[in-house]
Amino acid sequence: MNTSRREWLRQSAFALAAAGIAADVFAGKEKKLLPADNMILLNSNENAYGPSPKARKAILDHYLSSNRYPDDLIPVLKKEIAKHWNIRPENILFGAGSSEILGLVSLHVSFTKGNVITAEPSYRVWNEQAEAFGLNFIRIPLNSERKLDLEKMKSSINAATRMVYICNPNNPTGTYIDDAVLRNFVNEVSKSVMVLADEAYTEFADLPSLADIAVNNPNVVVAKTFSKIYGLAGARIGYAIAHPDTINKLGRYQPWTDMGISTVTANAALASVADKAFVDECREKTKQTREMCYECFRQLSLEYVPSHTSFILFNISKLKGDFSGQMRARNIFVQYREHFGGKWCRVSMGTTEEMKAFCAALKSIST
Ligand code: PLP
Repeated sequence: MNTSRREWLRQSAFALAAAGIAADVFAGKEKKLLPADNMILLNSNENAYGPSPKARKAILDHYLSSNRYPDDLIPVLKKEIAKHWNIRPENILFGAGSSEILGLVSLHVSFTKGNVITAEPSYRVWNEQAEAFGLNFIRIPLNSERKLDLEKMKSSINAATRMVYICNPNNPTGTYIDDAVLRNFVNEVSKSVMVLADEAYTEFADLPSLADIAVNNPNVVVAKTFSKIYGLAGARIGYAIAHPDTINKLGRYQPWTDMGISTVTANAALASVADKAFVDECREKTKQTREMCYECFRQLSLEYVPSHTSFILFNISKLKGDFSGQMRARNIFVQYREHFGGKWCRVSMGTTEEMKAFCAALKSIST
């Protein structure tokens, strides 16, 4: 499904660029290059509202600086991010999305082969790379509330465990662990193994970050991203927050430390980081669209997992036929997976209009 979406986007990009639309975009006209207006992309947890107006302006103001490396800008951006989290610039390392950070931490712990403890289901895209580094995964099922089973994760640590991965809130369930409980767990477990805390969605639930623990503990890395609430998924920027010794080690695995992001992207992130109004607006709109979807699921008697993120997991076991195919036929792209012994769909929150279309499509498929 993702492959066909990418292929569609690629072809559309060529077609639109050939039509000279790219020039309009750079001229600041209100034209959308991608996706086409009738495509409803609810399968990758992208932000339907972003980039923010400030980030858009920064992109247009700075695209001509694309002939310059971002090395002067990196310290400026680090300073702003450090201010935002009340940490120091030495606690930050940039990557092309938080995916790169997950990869660097995996590489770091893989020099002595062993296992990684993660939840099932949880965010997996980086797992194949970690396996290529020689790590293997111990997957601990979520508990009955569809939350991370921290007790079981802790008791599964053995002599070969190199890392515990915590995705909080968790993708694909959207559930989260209470801050005090999580902090106890991280402090305890990091005495023996690395803890990688993936905070891709914390802003949607207004959860506190574990940054304060990470900057003092070489065995804890927090992965942050601009892809989700900041709406910069395509710009590709994320970062690690960690102790300076850990940051130095991770940075040495990059061919050019901190420099995997573009000048335009760094400027967009700089305009975004302190934009509290945009973050609040996205959180609020996402909450509203979640409520709209819950109502629709209730009407159709479809089980769902109450979410604190920009996506919802709901049960489609009782629906007949090829669910994602039927959605695709209506130009709606969602993610389909088997979990907990049944069939589930993870739907990302789009705009209000997009979610109305999603609900209408779901009703027509269900009845
Ligand atoms: N972590 C989680 C939990 C995600 O859901 C995603 C993307 O969907 C990522 C990390 C990677 O995001 P990016 O590389 O765009 O920062």
